[in-house]
Amino acid sequence: MRSIDTIYIDGSFVTPRGEERFDLFNPSTSRVIGQVRLGNAQDAGLAIAAARRAFPSFSRTRKADRITLLRRLHEAVAARTDRIAETMIEEYGAPVSRAAWAAGYAAQSFLDAASTLETYPLERRIGSADVVLEPVGVAGLITPWNANAGFICNKLAFALAAGCTAVIKPSEMSALQTQVVAEALHEAGLPDGVFNIVNGRGDVVGAELARHPDIAKISFTGSTAVGKSIMRAGAETLKRITLELGGKSPTLILEDADLDTAIPLAVRAGFINSGQACLAGTRILVPESRKREAEERLRTTVEAVKVGDPRNPETAIGPMVSLKQWERVQRYIRVGLEEGARIVVGGEGKPDGLEGYFVRPTVFSDVQNHMTIAREEIFGPVLSLITYKDEEDAITIANDTVYGLQACVISKDDERARAVASRIAAGRVLVNGLHHEPLAPFGGFKQSGIGREHGPYGLEAYLEPKTLLGSREVAQGNDPYLASAAAAPSNR
Ligand code: NAD
Repeated sequence: MRSIDTIYIDGSFVTPRGEERFDLFNPSTSRVIGQVRLGNAQDAGLAIAAARRAFPSFSRTRKADRITLLRRLHEAVAARTDRIAETMIEEYGAPVSRAAWAAGYAAQSFLDAASTLETYPLERRIGSADVVLEPVGVAGLITPWNANAGFICNKLAFALAAGCTAVIKPSEMSALQTQVVAEALHEAGLPDGVFNIVNGRGDVVGAELARHPDIAKISFTGSTAVGKSIMRAGAETLKRITLELGGKSPTLILEDADLDTAIPLAVRAGFINSGQACLAGTRILVPESRKREAEERLRTTVEAVKVGDPRNPETAIGPMVSLKQWERVQRYIRVGLEEGARIVVGGEGKPDGLEGYFVRPTVFSDVQNHMTIAREEIFGPVLSLITYKDEEDAITIANDTVYGLQACVISKDDERARAVASRIAAGRVLVNGLHHEPLAPFGGFKQSGIGREHGPYGLEAYLEPKTLLGSREVAQGNDPYLASAAAAPSNR
């Protein structure tokens, strides 16, 4: 049994004021493996105060100094990727290949932020104005359980690159991962208060960040419902808000596609991160004429997917993160049947011989796009096969959703796929593969979010443009306002 008894405030691991203890589970066994002592609103307040004290000097550090810090953070996290991966497997049930990728991504985030900052012009001339991009203030960073370590690092990296200080509210269900990351970040030796980490419940610590007047910016990854509540709470103090929310992503298999490659690709897109992924391609769209063929290939492909021990390198699908999540997936499978969809493979219950929170990877056919299973985010390995009449119909169905995070288009003809991709309302559209570009903007259209992360767009999310007007000569002369602005130390 592990016990996480501290939070991180003002450069030190300290005992929280909050006294609630929260159980941590290994979802592969459904056994309790530890406890975390949760912070409360008072702890959040202390962390915000520390970040606020650190802001004036950190916001004026030079670009080169912040790049050096980001590289130190990268080294410290990279030295612990094995431990991060290990805790992701233990506490979240991530299959080993996924855990290794996610741990690498956590470390790489700091280098991505450093290279973005290096080439990003924080000062530019627009007409007669000097425009400078300044850090927005103290940032509140809130992460979900399905990629906790990676999101802590990615959000923090870009906040620091901009010159913001931060309070992180990680998922309370991911305290073991958070602890490993916190130790690494501490080792990098940043000035006290520049980043702070408060484990706690969302409706306590997270809500305090969303409400607090000294938080200028919230970057949140999580469910659409909570994202909306954060936006409402932040409106009172006009916080800058980045929301990375849910999805119901379509995979469009065009008429000419080779199903031997298209179906395995669609299954991988749907089952990414054991189906617990915002960008999972959970709606598979095929031409009506190829429905039977697609069903058959889906059945054989999914039957061959290995579910079980996440430590087995052949495992593609680990357990659901919690009993609540397991029950949620079961409920959606029942709802699918009640609404008239037909199971091609999988179904309710656990796969034979597995005790943890494992579900049977499931594919429904005869799904209409208005059915609950085609509209709501299930967050498990449950896919819907939906047929379309022609390409126009496919595009209409793909876009008929409140979400717009990602889509995938599959065709033998790249140009044809690209033409369809250009008409899909989603923040990212993949053509003929599960591609990734870490510096390209990531985020959602519609109710999948607001704003973007990664690369220059991700950096801008923590910056506020300031326009300086008046000649430099005047500024150095007798205009008191411009003179003080010109003389102030710069973070460029
Ligand atoms: P969640 O919304 O329940 O929780 C996310 C975080 O918000 C947690 O740290 C939680 O404690 C906190 N929180 C909860 N209530 C809060 C409140 N009232 N105020 C402030 N913070 C609060 O989401 P989850 O179940 O942890 O994660 C799964 C969800 O995240 C899915 O909907 C998924 O699509 C989404 N997600 C989106 C992306 C993306 O990049 N778009 C990536 C990963 C996950």
